Amino acid sequence: MFKQKRLLLLVVPAGLALAQDGGKAILQKAAVAMGAANVKSMQYSGSGKAGTLGQSHTPQAPWPTVNVNSYTRTIDFESQSSKEEMVRTLETPPAKGGGAPFVGEQKQVNMVAGLYAWNQPGATPVPANAALEERQLQLMSTPQGFLKQALITNTMSKKVKGGTEVSFSAFGRFKVTGVINNQGIVEKVDTWLPHPLLGDMEMETVFTDYKDYGGVKFPSHIVQSQGGHMVLDLNVNNVVPNAPNAVLLAPDNVKAAKTAAEVAVSQKLADGVWFIGGGSHNSVLVEYPTYLAVVEAPLSEERSLAVIAEVKKLVPNKPIRYLINTHHHFDHSSGLRTYVAEGATIITNEGNQAYYEQAWKAQRTLSPDNLSRMPKKATFITVKDKYVLTEGDRSLELYLNQGDNHNGGILFGYLPKDKILIEADDFTPPAPGTALVPLAKTFGETLYDNLQRLKLDVQQIAPLHGRPVPFAEMPTALGKS
Ligand SMILES: [Zn+2]
Repeated sequence: MFKQKRLLLLVVPAGLALAQDGGKAILQKAAVAMGAANVKSMQYSGSGKAGTLGQSHTPQAPWPTVNVNSYTRTIDFESQSSKEEMVRTLETPPAKGGGAPFVGEQKQVNMVAGLYAWNQPGATPVPANAALEERQLQLMSTPQGFLKQALITNTMSKKVKGGTEVSFSAFGRFKVTGVINNQGIVEKVDTWLPHPLLGDMEMETVFTDYKDYGGVKFPSHIVQSQGGHMVLDLNVNNVVPNAPNAVLLAPDNVKAAKTAAEVAVSQKLADGVWFIGGGSHNSVLVEYPTYLAVVEAPLSEERSLAVIAEVKKLVPNKPIRYLINTHHHFDHSSGLRTYVAEGATIITNEGNQAYYEQAWKAQRTLSPDNLSRMPKKATFITVKDKYVLTEGDRSLELYLNQGDNHNGGILFGYLPKDKILIEADDFTPPAPGTALVPLAKTFGETLYDNLQRLKLDVQQIAPLHGRPVPFAEMPTALGKS
């Protein structure tokens, strides 16, 4: 028995040998080297760039970036609370891609305390799962936060080039892995978040250029990526160990908040055409003689299930055969997999098929969906410049919006019989009396030019954000009438 064990140990490659103590001695050494043991709270500040996840101009491009003019994160490790404050501005000229257009300085304040997450202003509650999935894992993705959590958790370790990799499971679900170099310095932390499009999505945080702040070592440069591209590139210029007033308590309204269920509310636009709203993103149902087509599968499986239930209520006896996807931005494509599971063919720009097929191969251990439970091969129809989906007297024309700086492969739809335009993100009707911000106006002008180029006689717009409006609101908002 003893001999067998020895033999087994001998055949394990050196790099995979597990330390007897799960790496606790290395963690202890690192905690001393980095001054983690004496740090109950900390605040770090700086400036840099932020990338907007899932909003790239083309599927292969990195996330579009904005300037981070100022950044401060205050963490209290004992109460597991954190406040992240960021002031962002658009680059000049604005990076091509998505993300809600804004003007001037945009302030973001994100908080977490234990299981509760909220944003300022107004202590706006954020769904309970985000508190753990994103914000608590961010605390463990700081050098001191990683060491503190690893020291009180069951860990596994293995030797890697130049140091040791230590892993643990956070909240019983999320794998967290850090690399500690031979000097006892944390070089990077990896973890995985559930994402409806990307599956188990890697979040990697890399620390370089460490400096000493009164015995506490902290990196001067932090680069975090999510889904393979940069989301934060921060140059740290100030660190305050044991920052005062770092403890945050969740406000009562945040503690009482319930996660709102997705609600689908439909409105008939024409015979066989329904606008399905009720949330932040809309879909449009088009009825054909023997089947149904739905334009857009935004947000999540929950959103898709709510929309599909409404579709089945409106037209009970026809299958959803096609789902038209306007563009690959994650807020517009994260519900697609539900339609694949439903048996629908995805109609999208030719640039997107390979991207979706690759993304959908990812593991989905953190948040399984209908398609991962009942795997099925996705079928696609791809569009270059134009595609017409026709049966009987029903037609939906799809066009590439040429020259679009929001998304390079974005499609819009036109129903010739009803003179209805269906479009995403290029024109969101502003509230009466409100002007479009300059960047939103440039997107609207590109769409307007394409409608002119194609000589489409649009009477009504069914936008995939906001409310249906008569076409005349578009030239008015663009200052063309
Ligand atoms: Zn978009």
